[in-house]
Amino acid sequence: MSLSRRDFIKLSIASATAASIGLSLPKKVESKEIVDKWVKGTCRFCGTGCGVYVGVKDGKVVAIKGNPEAKTNFGFLCVKGFLAYKCMYHPDRLKYPMIRQKDGKFKRVSWDEALDYVAKKFKYFHKKYGKDSVAYYGSGQCTTEESYTFNKLWKGGFRSNMVEGNPRLCMASAVGGYITTFGSDEPVGSYADIENAKCIFLVGSNTSECHPIIFRRIMRHKLRNPDVKIIVCEPRKTNTAKIADLWLPVDPGTDLAVFHSMAREIIKNNWHDKKFIDAHTRITDGKNVYSFDKYVEFVEQFKPEVVEKLTRCPAENIRKAAKWFATSGATMTLWTMGLNQRTRGVWANNLIHNLHLITGNICKPGADSFSLTGQPNACGGVRETGSLCHLLPGTKPVKDKKWRTHVEKVWGLKPGTIDPKPGFHTMKMFDSLGGENDPNKPIKAMLTSTTNPAQSLPNLNRYIKGMKDAFLVVLDIFPTKTTQLADVVLPAAFLYEKGGVYGCSERRSQLTEKAVNPPGEAKPDIWIAAQIAKRMGFEKLIPWNMDDSMKANEMAWTDYITVTKDSDHSLWGATYDRLKKEKAGIQWPCPYPGHPGTYKRYVRGMDPMFEHEEFKRFFGKKIPDDAKIYFYMDKKGEGRANIWLRPYKGPAEVPDAEYPFYLTTGRVIAHWHTGTMTMRIPEIARSYPYAYIEIHPDDARKYNIFEGDLVEVISRRGKAILPARITKNSLPGVLFVPWFDQEISRMINFVCNDAVDPGSKEPEFKIAAVKIRKYSGSIQMKEKVIISDINSSYY
Ligand code: SF4
Repeated sequence: MSLSRRDFIKLSIASATAASIGLSLPKKVESKEIVDKWVKGTCRFCGTGCGVYVGVKDGKVVAIKGNPEAKTNFGFLCVKGFLAYKCMYHPDRLKYPMIRQKDGKFKRVSWDEALDYVAKKFKYFHKKYGKDSVAYYGSGQCTTEESYTFNKLWKGGFRSNMVEGNPRLCMASAVGGYITTFGSDEPVGSYADIENAKCIFLVGSNTSECHPIIFRRIMRHKLRNPDVKIIVCEPRKTNTAKIADLWLPVDPGTDLAVFHSMAREIIKNNWHDKKFIDAHTRITDGKNVYSFDKYVEFVEQFKPEVVEKLTRCPAENIRKAAKWFATSGATMTLWTMGLNQRTRGVWANNLIHNLHLITGNICKPGADSFSLTGQPNACGGVRETGSLCHLLPGTKPVKDKKWRTHVEKVWGLKPGTIDPKPGFHTMKMFDSLGGENDPNKPIKAMLTSTTNPAQSLPNLNRYIKGMKDAFLVVLDIFPTKTTQLADVVLPAAFLYEKGGVYGCSERRSQLTEKAVNPPGEAKPDIWIAAQIAKRMGFEKLIPWNMDDSMKANEMAWTDYITVTKDSDHSLWGATYDRLKKEKAGIQWPCPYPGHPGTYKRYVRGMDPMFEHEEFKRFFGKKIPDDAKIYFYMDKKGEGRANIWLRPYKGPAEVPDAEYPFYLTTGRVIAHWHTGTMTMRIPEIARSYPYAYIEIHPDDARKYNIFEGDLVEVISRRGKAILPARITKNSLPGVLFVPWFDQEISRMINFVCNDAVDPGSKEPEFKIAAVKIRKYSGSIQMKEKVIISDINSSYY
């Protein structure tokens, strides 16, 4: 490979940028620790799903190393993955069940006392206020077995669909996008497409910080193949954007116009794939089906020069991006919360799929429209087990009578047991949560597991009172903002203390074996769920109430894959025995024992559903014998994907004279979510001790703000006070704050908008109109804030 001087400089810059943000860190590591054994598992943190080996010595985890045979990370890990075990032995670990007393303080109690109390209260609320008065709020960090068990307990036992999980806050728009375009949730392809792509389009994804190992794969591919083009579309010049060949800077929430404009350019230049469009797609607005000419006419309004004025994205960049996207030969788009956490998140997802469909960049190696998941088990645990208010296991709606009947049969329930009416989505659930004396709040009790809504919900001021007034049961490993509002705290086991399956972004389920025992009296969530079920009279429904967590996990998993057996999400062939043996897990669909799993869906010869007769019979699918590509979950039964005519709509709030800035929020490389675990890892806490606000130098000058000055950021809902970082990373007029900080004055979620996407019900975390002022008061800058005292209270 010969490089021009220009290419060489570009590659050097790319390498240096990667190194400067720690991306030389994830090297293959053979830990020098002497361990008694290495136990196979997955990383506890992001949705990449890196395979790990957990090193155990004298009954304690002492090291973590990458699994070289894992198809997600090939042995590489980022700093969070390496250091995850360090939080397991922090002195703040919750070790005993606790019940809040009349004086407001927690008292240690036995498990029997705690569980009897929870069951008694749940029974009381059910009897007095009805089956929907007790809700479950789970997490994309619970194992699949745990999410499935709680979902089964609620929907099959309590007969209530008041089941939600925090993936509603991050992935619901991606789900909505996949279902409305392809008829079925989750990506067509796999991570392996990265190494086959000729052009990589990153949208609303700071991959370098949020999915470092995926970024590493992208970087390695680029360094080996300098002709591969990388395009990044987002408001900040993140470390991801810094290595791009082309940056599409946009004002938050305006990128819909850019995607339409790219489509216009593609068609204008005849770069579209008319054959693919005719054979495999339809043009629709949801009501009618239109000709391709109508689509051409529709996108005509998005001339790059017009879109530049609307979005601040240079017309020339849009033209170049359209060309690279359409003519590369294989383009892969990857996105995450920047696209999803919006009031038009589903539409934004649809428009990305549009670009792939009009150019035929789908269903072939290196070409895919791929949503990266934030949490390690949002896909496997919550989306696939249907642990949301409108779904059942297998990702089918509760409204679907045929699927309800099927699930009732597998669960051994009388026909008509499962409620066909969806429960409340997350924001409505928390808005409906309150005390017995509040007639406007129909939900009186809630059990939360492995999540921290008292810090992670947007517009927090609106929801704290409900959590405080209701009967709140919290399962977690540390004291958090949410335990501060709880009535009962149940100490939970960490992933490596209980085992279980995580399913990552690429439809891959991987088993973590139990490596060590939990501390004190902490227990796996699955045991806690089964014990509550027993006390509520649902022992037959959840019979896995034994102490051996891996046995219980296996029973729950087998129950779950039986439900999925003949569905498009079939995991029937991914038995526990296989998952134990497989070094890299299994990608669904995997409809029979011995099936290797599926790299690419909807392609004959790759996707087993083309030949799966029971699936076709159950869902009434007829796939023509000569169809090479067929979107078989198309609701119209034509095997087509939808190209959507979505009008342009901006965010719920745009800057005005009173609130002149956009605020956007996100993660940093070191921290996980609300920092409850990563702030307890000393190396990480030292490197990122507190949140900050990024301000463009032009804006800082106007407000006389200097580096390190305290800045008050205020929205219509709340405020936060943060030290300033003056940087050209964001466009002028756009501010950025990370959301991991537990110090109440720096908690940015008080400021965020809780307006939701009408389709996915996902809130618009990413966009709020705010004003700023230099903070003249003095506040004590606490470098490291974690809640160590279970009896402490900020609210
Ligand atoms: S990239 Fe994600 S899954 Fe992989 S080690 Fe880092 S945090 Fe864990």
